[in-house]
Amino acid sequence: MTDEDRVAAGWDRLNSLLVRLGRPDVHDEHFRDTGTLVNTPVTRGSTVLFPDLATMRKVGSERYDHTAIYGAMGTPVQHELERAIAAIENGRDTQIVSSGLAACTTALLTWTSSGGHCLIPDACYGPTRRFADTMLGRFGVEITYYDPLIREPELRALMRPDTQVVFAESPGSHTFEIQDIPMLARVAHAHDARLLLDNTWGFGIFAPFDKGADVSIQALTKYPGGHSDAVLGAITVAAEEEWHRLRDAAIQLGQLAGPDDCWLTLRGLRTMGVRLARQSRTALTVAKWLSTHPKVLRVLHPALPDNPGYALWERDFSGAGPLFSVVLQPSCTRAAMEKMIDSLSRFGIGASWGGFESLVLPTTGGVIRSLPECRADHPAFRLSIGLDDAADLIADLEHGLMRL
Ligand SMILES: *Cc1c(COP(=O)(O)O)cnc(C)c1O
Repeated sequence: MTDEDRVAAGWDRLNSLLVRLGRPDVHDEHFRDTGTLVNTPVTRGSTVLFPDLATMRKVGSERYDHTAIYGAMGTPVQHELERAIAAIENGRDTQIVSSGLAACTTALLTWTSSGGHCLIPDACYGPTRRFADTMLGRFGVEITYYDPLIREPELRALMRPDTQVVFAESPGSHTFEIQDIPMLARVAHAHDARLLLDNTWGFGIFAPFDKGADVSIQALTKYPGGHSDAVLGAITVAAEEEWHRLRDAAIQLGQLAGPDDCWLTLRGLRTMGVRLARQSRTALTVAKWLSTHPKVLRVLHPALPDNPGYALWERDFSGAGPLFSVVLQPSCTRAAMEKMIDSLSRFGIGASWGGFESLVLPTTGGVIRSLPECRADHPAFRLSIGLDDAADLIADLEHGLMRL
C-alpha cells in the first residue's frame, strides 16, 4: 500500500454506507403508495397539526425518538441527517445544531455547570477558546489549558475532584497535534469526567466511541457539506443517558437547523467519501513536495512519518484529512509570506476548509496559545486541498515560494 492509498483507505471504505444513509423507505401516495423518491425531500414547517390533544401529548413525550410536536424541535429532513451522522460516527444518536461552533458551545454547556472545572487543549479551535474564556467563565466554569501532547502522569496531575469535562480536538487547529484519545478517556473516566472530542478533521476516519470518547462534535460545514454553501454542526453520543441530557439541552437552547442546510448536507454526504479520498491523496502529495522545498522548515501533516503525531495517527485513524500547515524557514519574514499568499492563484484566501476548492490562510498572527511549549513563532500557513490536480497546486506553490 502506498502512503497515498493509506490516507485514502478509510474514505474508500465509507462509500457503500454513504449512498444508503438518510433515505427512509417511505411510500408516497403521489407514487401510488408503492414508489419512493431516492432522496428525503426538503421538509419545511413550524406548526404540526394533530388529530387530538392526547396524540399531541404522546408525540411530545417521545422527544428522544426524533419526533417533534413543533418545527423548532426539528423537521423530518433534519432527523434523517441526524440518523445518518450517528451511523457514520457509530454512535447512538445525533443532535444537529446551527453551526460547528454551536456544536462546541452546546456540548460544553450541556456537560459543565457552575463550580465545575474543564480541561481544554491549547491547540483548540479559536472560537471554542473564546467561548470558554468568556461565557463559560461567566457561568462559573474554571478552564485549564493543557498541552495537546500531554502524557498520562501530567494529565492525572491536572485532574481535580470538580473536573467535569476533558475537551479534546485531534489534530489541533493549525498545529495538527494528534492527541492520545484512549489515554485521555481512561484518565477522564477514572475521575468521573466526560471526554468531549471535536472530531471535525477525523469525521469518518476516526471512530470516537471505540476510542473512548463520550461525545463527538462535528462541523458538518467542512466535509459533509463539502461545497461551501451551508453552515451546520452535529453532536453525537453513544450512551442513552447522555442522549437524553443532550436532547433536553438542545431543546432548551432552541438549537436546530434549517431544512435547506440539512438537505444540502445530506446531498453532500453522498460524495463525501469520493471527494475526500481524492483530496486526501492530493494533500499528501502536495505535503510531501513541500517538505522537500528549501524554503520550508516543516510540514505539519499527521500522515508524514517525521511528524510527532505519526505513530498515534497510524494507530487510531483509517485515513487523513485534506488540511495541514506549512512552517517556513525562520529567515522568511511574515510580510514576505503574506505577499507569497496573495500571489497564489489556485488557492482562495478564506475561512473554513474541507470543501471542493483549495484554500490558504496564514497561521502566524491569528493563532492564540497559552502555554509556551505550544507557541509557534515561525511564519506558517494552512492549506485546505480541494479537488484540483496536484500538479497545478504544486506549480502554483512553487511559483509563490520562489518569490520569497
Ligand atoms: C470550522 C470548525 C469549527 C466550527 O464550525 P463552523 O460550522 O464553521 O461554525 C469547529 N471546530 C473545528 C475543528 C473547525 O475546524
